[in-house]
Amino acid sequence: MQSPWILESPRTRKAKRLASALDTDVIIIGAGIAGMTTAFEILKNTPLRVTVLEAGEVGGSATGHNAGIFIADTERPVKSVYDEYGPVLTRAMLDELRGSWELLESCIAELGLALPLYPLPALLGLKSETVLNESLADAKVRVELGDQTELVCVREDLLAGIKEEYRHLVKGVSREDIQAKLEVNDPGFLGYWPDRRAAAGNSRVLSEEIAAALLGRYEGRLALHEQTRVKRITADSESVTLVTEDGHTVTGKYTVLTTNGFENLHIDNHAGEPIDASFHYEVRGAVGFMLGYLVKETYSPVMAAYLGVWNFKGHPVYSEEALEDPYIYLSRRPYDGKTLITVGGPEDFVDDTSVYTPEYVFPDKAFKDIKDFLKTYRIPLPEKPDFMWHGLMGYTRSGLRLVGPEPKNPRIIYNLGCNGIGLLPSFIGANRIARLLLGEKLPPSVFDPKG
Ligand SMILES: Cc1cc2nc3c(=O)[nH]c(=O)nc-3n(C[C@H](O)[C@H](O)[C@H](O)COP(=O)(O)OP(=O)(O)OC[C@H]3O[C@@H](n4cnc5c(N)ncnc54)[C@H](O)[C@@H]3O)c2cc1C
Repeated sequence: MQSPWILESPRTRKAKRLASALDTDVIIIGAGIAGMTTAFEILKNTPLRVTVLEAGEVGGSATGHNAGIFIADTERPVKSVYDEYGPVLTRAMLDELRGSWELLESCIAELGLALPLYPLPALLGLKSETVLNESLADAKVRVELGDQTELVCVREDLLAGIKEEYRHLVKGVSREDIQAKLEVNDPGFLGYWPDRRAAAGNSRVLSEEIAAALLGRYEGRLALHEQTRVKRITADSESVTLVTEDGHTVTGKYTVLTTNGFENLHIDNHAGEPIDASFHYEVRGAVGFMLGYLVKETYSPVMAAYLGVWNFKGHPVYSEEALEDPYIYLSRRPYDGKTLITVGGPEDFVDDTSVYTPEYVFPDKAFKDIKDFLKTYRIPLPEKPDFMWHGLMGYTRSGLRLVGPEPKNPRIIYNLGCNGIGLLPSFIGANRIARLLLGEKLPPSVFDPKG
């Protein structure tokens, strides 16, 4: 079975492979949402020529196999970002995350894109004390840094046990309210954090629409080659040279890796210390498994993440032991005249040397774990899912997106590492890179690659 995002809008544009050598200014490797937004921001804001090289097709990888929720957030708890990077950089991150909505909206408006985006409230269901306390700590930091934050709704009988420092951040609700809001029969939830801004959309369609619009608008400055895998990057202090699987060469001033971190290529650095091994060590992978159900009734769009439903061990997302503790995420939106309900959560971790392919087996355990969760979901679903898919997430060691020049050779630039939430953050990376190429000196950021 396939991802609903690929099926929703079959591709009509013909793919063009690279068939000869090419010279350009910026070579983007990868045409997922990160590659296409990076191309958009560079073409819009600079006079540079851009070539995009994609091993498969536009939006065919993680961008076509995700949960399709646009949310200006990070999976890594904000409190842990604050503890590591301090208030200035954390506030700047929250500002950039909020600003990513504007980047998305201006991209859609400027290119006249047609895809639907369904605004919806996103809520977090909190089932264990660990996730409740983590959310309260996050809420406290967000409020301190001026982020607008809803009160965390906590079961009334737990209010007396809430620490003094968090009391102003919570409000009491009944067990029934919690179940109704989360649409579950499970009485075990301790609370929820409501109503974050989010939208449901098809990021594969968004990427394809951006590609088609850019090809029309920037005919002389943009080349897009699909089915063209890059095998080697050679970079010196002046330029970069890329060699494709077919043996063609592309030269440019810069290359931007928007590969999600799994590119299976070699990097030769002729301008300093070796990059290859250290770069690959930066990103580890998680294969996320999802089921989708179509129901004929109309339900309002919503997104909910259910945290702590599996024995939550409290590993931070960036620790060596575990990249993150998985959680269930569910969303609803209109689809083909019906309502599509998607549910994901189970993950397999893969290291950077593994080759992930679409043939990766959907484990029985992942299927069962999702089905077990759905036993508590209040909306009745058909026995058999209509869609079943998986996709690859790139987790960086920082648990945050990697955006900016490689410290050992600034001709190589990154906009990668989804860390669970990568759609809106791709826009942030794209915009930062265009500003860098324009010569702007950007202030330090949590997204900066470390030396
Ligand atoms: C199951 C799942 C659920 C998710 N849910 C959400 C969500 O709800 N919200 C959210 O914000 N994020 C979500 N994400 C993350 C989100 O999908 C990603 O962050 C985003 O799609 C990544 O986009 P990308 O362009 O960086 O990577 P990709 O879409 O993977 O694109 C990278 C491209 O690079 C190409 N490439 C790689 N190596 C080479 C090479 N050597 N030569 C040429 N091309 C190459 C690949 O073919 C690929 O097309 C989810 C991810 C998964 C897997």
